[in-house]
Amino acid sequence: MVTGECNCGAVQFEIDADLAGVFVCHCSICRRSTGSNGIAVVVVPDADWQTWFCSVCGSPVPGANDATRMFAPAGSITHGGEALKVIHHIWVGSKAVWDEIGDAGKQHTEGFRG
Ligand SMILES: [Zn+2]
Ligand SMILES: [Zn+2]
Repeated sequence: MVTGECNCGAVQFEIDADLAGVFVCHCSICRRSTGSNGIAVVVVPDADWQTWFCSVCGSPVPGANDATRMFAPAGSITHGGEALKVIHHIWVGSKAVWDEIGDAGKQHTEGFRG
C-alpha cells in the first residue's frame, strides 16, 4: 500500500497496486503548471484507486491519466514508495534547455503509453 498527501495534508490518497515506477513528463504544459522541469507521477489502473481532492493548498493531486488509468504525483507519496525508480521520461523533445536528465529512465521524445 502506497500512501501520500498534498502540501497542506487536506488531500490524502492510498494506492493499492503494484507500481511499475515513476514517469517524468517534461512537456511544456507540465513545466508551466508546476513551474519546474515537469512532473513526476506514478500511473495505475482506475480500479485500484481511492482518491480525495484538495481545495485548500493547490498542490498537484491525483487525477485522470487517460480513459482507464489515473496518475498520482510521485512527490506526494509519503509511505510505501521506497523502491520506486524513474523508468520513463516522456516529452523529452520539449524539455527545458537547463533540464539535464541524470537517471537511468528510458527517454522518449514524445508521449509513451506504458
Ligand atoms: Zn506533460
Ligand atoms: Zn492541500
